[in-house]
Amino acid sequence: MNRKIGVLAIQGAFYEHIQMLRELGTEVIEIRQKKHLLNNHFDGLIIPGGESTVMGKLLRELDMLAELKKLIDNGLPVFGTCAGLILLAKNITNDKDKHLAAMDISVKRNAYGRQLGSFQGNYDFKHIGRIPMVFIRAPYIESIGVGTEVLAVVDNNIVAARQNNILVTSFHPELTGDLSVHKYFLDLI
Ligand code: GLN
Repeated sequence: MNRKIGVLAIQGAFYEHIQMLRELGTEVIEIRQKKHLLNNHFDGLIIPGGESTVMGKLLRELDMLAELKKLIDNGLPVFGTCAGLILLAKNITNDKDKHLAAMDISVKRNAYGRQLGSFQGNYDFKHIGRIPMVFIRAPYIESIGVGTEVLAVVDNNIVAARQNNILVTSFHPELTGDLSVHKYFLDLI
């Protein structure tokens, strides 16, 4: 089935997601302004990595936050990576702000500290198998709510999960050559 996927393209590593989706033969629409949310149909949305505070601020300034939240709360399939995961979390344990607050997870930002801020390795992802994972000043999930499925655990920390229409990873699958997590997201739609 040919799906159309929106990619939030206001800050961060959105271009790499667009390239991966195109490699998978998916039609992509860049979401940069509120009108792109309102005037287009898309079957799913990717929220990329970047800086969650900056993205949250821009979403408010562009008057997109409430509209985006409405779409997600109404069931739009969404895949958030890294900062995208932080934006989707209902609770951020080390930040007073929350943003889209759509998924029942508690998240710690910059959870690996400065020294171990960035690392990569091959780890298991439920339903997929062993895949490369790149972490850049990554968050991890400290706790999950009812109905949330843990998809990947690295060093005892949850780094990927799904609740209904929402998929999140604290790593960056778009920065590896491995298309499997994007394919997994497309298959969920
Ligand atoms: N450290 C960033 C934040 O707190 C996330 C990093 C990333 O997206 N690679 O938003």
